[in-house]
Amino acid sequence: MVKVLKNAEIFSPKYLGKKDILILNDKIALIEKDINLSISSMDIEIYDFSGKIVLPGFIDSHVHISGGGGEGGFSSRTPEINLSQLIRAGVTTIVGCLGTDGITRSLENLYAKAKALEEEGISSFIYSGSYAVPPVTFTGSIVKDFILIDKVIGVGEIAISDHRSTQPTFEEIKKIVSNTRLGGLLSNKAGVVNFHVGSGDNGIDYLINIAKNTEIPASVMYPTHMNRNKKLLYQGIEFAKMGGYFDLTTSYSTEEGKLKTIEFIKECFENNIIDKVTLSSDGQGSLPKFDSSGDFIGLKIGEISSLFEIVREVVKKGYLPLEEAIKTITLNPSKVLKLKNKGQIEISFDADLVILNKDLEIESVISKGIFLMKEKKILKKGTFE
Ligand code: ZN
Repeated sequence: MVKVLKNAEIFSPKYLGKKDILILNDKIALIEKDINLSISSMDIEIYDFSGKIVLPGFIDSHVHISGGGGEGGFSSRTPEINLSQLIRAGVTTIVGCLGTDGITRSLENLYAKAKALEEEGISSFIYSGSYAVPPVTFTGSIVKDFILIDKVIGVGEIAISDHRSTQPTFEEIKKIVSNTRLGGLLSNKAGVVNFHVGSGDNGIDYLINIAKNTEIPASVMYPTHMNRNKKLLYQGIEFAKMGGYFDLTTSYSTEEGKLKTIEFIKECFENNIIDKVTLSSDGQGSLPKFDSSGDFIGLKIGEISSLFEIVREVVKKGYLPLEEAIKTITLNPSKVLKLKNKGQIEISFDADLVILNKDLEIESVISKGIFLMKEKKILKKGTFE
């Protein structure tokens, strides 16, 4: 019930120096130098983390937790995620989504998987909808989904500028965004539309148009896969300057893709918009390859472990200081998704913590006050692992 983590270097994400953290049940109760408790009748667990680094638990805003893919036929449908994959990746909060396939994959199944992960020890949310427009919903209405389904905090991933999209019109997208805005307000949730942006020439033109020409704030629209090419990245930077957030996908199918993402993160930092950038893994999603005539030629599966792997490389290369780099997977997603008590090491926030060694390797993970991994040993496995 009471844990004291001693002598770690704390990044809240801001660097707080070497301090102790007191955890009471599932919350952070105190952050101070030399916490010494002398209540003899209470069971107090004390851990010495000298030489270690403590970060907020990571938030992954786009994971196909119940599986995704299917672009190469039935046998290319990707499997569900396991709890230990999340824990090893340091992810303590996820947002699950459907994807290309909103027919054999249902929202009900996604909801059940999110509930299962919550029971197993992490925090979970979901998006209503899939690639398609009009979006699949639980209740027949986006607004109702927000109000009646506890886990729904947004809509997505709605596909635009992609050959797998339903080629939605501007008016259709505007309607989805305005309904999401209303649903978010009425339910006191984030109310964001997560857009899957393909490699089509129009990029996020629709979103920029909505932000410029309607009353809807840019922050309601949350495009992902914005590291697909340089043109998209620059559109993202323009969008960020209008107050929107955008997301870069860390799963890569080639080493070249990984290096490109690392360079793009550096570019966002140099453009002073890193506070508007998030990273997500697209874990369990398919990374399909199509040839020049659009025929499917093979696929890989998105890895949730890529989320911190990219952050680590950005820091190791000296492109961004740790406190700036980790914002993209902690503070920034907590802001877009309006997750109260998440994304920071602060008093009264959830005790979701990741402990690294000096080489920036994940060693221990605490979710809602409970160790799920300690010294690289997984302590909690999914029910069927
Ligand atoms: Zn996508």
